[in-house]
Amino acid sequence: MQNKKYETVIGLEIHVRLDTKSKMFCACSNSGEDLPPNTTVCPICMGHPGTLPAMNEQAIAWGMKAALAINCTVAHESKFDRKHYFYPDLPKGYQISQYDQPIGQNGWIEFMVESELKKVRLNRLHLEEDAAKLMHEKNHSLVDFNRAGVPLAEIVTEVDLRSPKEAKAFLQELRRIMRYLGVSEADMEKGHLRCDANISLRPVGDAKLYAKTEIKNLNSFRSVEKALAYEEERQRILWEEGTPVSYLSTRGWNEQEQKTYEQRIKEDANDYRYFPEPDLPPLEFKDRVIEAVRDQLPELPAAKRKRFQEQYGLSPADVAVLTDDKEVAHYTEQVISELKSWLMDLEEMEGTEEDIWRTHKKKLAKLVANWIGTELFKHLNEHKLSIKDCKITPENFSEFLTLIWKKKVNSSAAQTILETMLGTGADPSHILEEKDLGQMDDARALDVIIAKIITTNEKVVAEYRGGKENAIQFLVGMVMKESKGKANPETALEILRKKLS
Ligand SMILES: [Zn+2]
Repeated sequence: MQNKKYETVIGLEIHVRLDTKSKMFCACSNSGEDLPPNTTVCPICMGHPGTLPAMNEQAIAWGMKAALAINCTVAHESKFDRKHYFYPDLPKGYQISQYDQPIGQNGWIEFMVESELKKVRLNRLHLEEDAAKLMHEKNHSLVDFNRAGVPLAEIVTEVDLRSPKEAKAFLQELRRIMRYLGVSEADMEKGHLRCDANISLRPVGDAKLYAKTEIKNLNSFRSVEKALAYEEERQRILWEEGTPVSYLSTRGWNEQEQKTYEQRIKEDANDYRYFPEPDLPPLEFKDRVIEAVRDQLPELPAAKRKRFQEQYGLSPADVAVLTDDKEVAHYTEQVISELKSWLMDLEEMEGTEEDIWRTHKKKLAKLVANWIGTELFKHLNEHKLSIKDCKITPENFSEFLTLIWKKKVNSSAAQTILETMLGTGADPSHILEEKDLGQMDDARALDVIIAKIITTNEKVVAEYRGGKENAIQFLVGMVMKESKGKANPETALEILRKKLS
């Protein structure tokens, strides 16, 4: 942490691509990025004279949904405007966007940065069409218009972020919200969530905003954090030297060199000559329409995290892992629900499902978090699978957890069962029986094995008795081998210690 002489002031502008079927103002497919260049185009998105845009109702509905999810006020009236600028990626010479009446205003998002709750105010969410994609070759540039006209939601924050780490956590939460809503995959690597970040520093206690730099086109969470951290340090040194940033400029991020570099100096504010789009009627939203959309919002990440913590007793760290993806959260809840009924059926358990969960909350929550959040994830990541591809039904997974709970299997046998379940989707008790993985709960059989290991490993036994503590681990290993992995290593260790003392 640098000294606290200067405060960092960061604001973000984010473009989220809406995953509608068709483009914003024409019937062209919205999946053009995976298709050959210039194949998902028509006279409308190519800006031919005499064509008229037609509103994509789905994009409007999703824009409103996103605006409400990030706590924006949706006004009764909204409209589209033309934003004029000249660039080869813009066939019409203007972009249809929203200027003074965006669909959403004055929102906020609350999210966790490490273990602290942070709130960031949002200036607005407006809808607009994307521009074409330019590909720069050696001596010329190519234009792919497949992206021209793709619907975007642009979200602008107030300058409430105070560190690069906060900026990254904010973006991750925003992506999570968009995914929960199902309006966008918001994948940064694919350019479905694009971020420009502006940053300035000021002496602590000074409320003034100083000249900022804008870092353009950051395409991963990591690069957002890294570029801001680089720029924060660069500006701090300038302040220390008595020559703080004095003009507005845009900077790029060089991933190889891990440096920002100046792209262009902004001398005055751009004049886009905005005026209302004459070919589209203004949007009007009745209260009942806005309220109906609000009512249909799904449970959002922040609410889900809170509920998972309260209802299941999961730790904040485990909750973060299990709710990051909506499908994983759903799977986890199904497993827990099934697990409760498995536990109810156990002889030693008393009371209702809820009583049982309450009594054993801490242990059960840890069991679920370990086997889903750690072990299952590890396997899914290794095989590049998502939870949707997982062959284990929630019922089988909860039965599997019950076997561990009842100590029917030790942890290495549990790993084998999990792997087999992932491969075949078979139920765990079947695998247990078929592979003969049941834990040896016959104390006498274990006794016999241990006695044998002691007599056949005299040298090691002598070493242990002579004070070489570690030697006992070798004996445990021999017991595990002799029992074909079915002994409980902890029990074996306990018995060995007793016998050799
Ligand atoms: Zn089109």
